[in-house]
This record gives sequence, C-alpha cells and structure tokens, in this order.
Amino acid sequence: MTTPVPPVTEPDPSVHTCSGDLVGPCAKCQRKTHKYGRGGCPLCQWCMTPAMAKWGPGVRYATARG
Ligand SMILES: [Zn+2]
Repeated sequence: MTTPVPPVTEPDPSVHTCSGDLVGPCAKCQRKTHKYGRGGCPLCQWCMTPAMAKWGPGVRYATARG
C-alpha cells in the first residue's frame, strides 16, 4: 500500500487551514507546511506519517524540542 507523495513544491494541505504567518518549511523536505503555533508541526504530513509509524505519536513533541 503506497500513497503517492506530491512534489515538495506542493505545499502540505495543512497550510490551507492555518494563517500564512504560521507556515514554514518542513524540517525534512522543506515543503511548506503548518509549522508554527497551535496545531503546527515541524514536519509536513508526508514526512510525519512514516515518522509516527517508526517512533509513535510522541515523535511530534520530541522533534518540536529539537
Ligand atoms: Zn516534509
């Protein structure tokens, strides 16, 4: 089961639901993603999904501290 990942020039869908000043580059692939503020994440969803599979839901808080 493979999910096609859009090119990194495509912003993460999350940017459409947050304000523009909360958008920043993904820590891994530099794709635009909802990075800052409430609900933000340093990784885009395409990088976050395999990270969560590997490290579990807590990865978000672990990476946010780095
Ligand atoms: Zn990414």
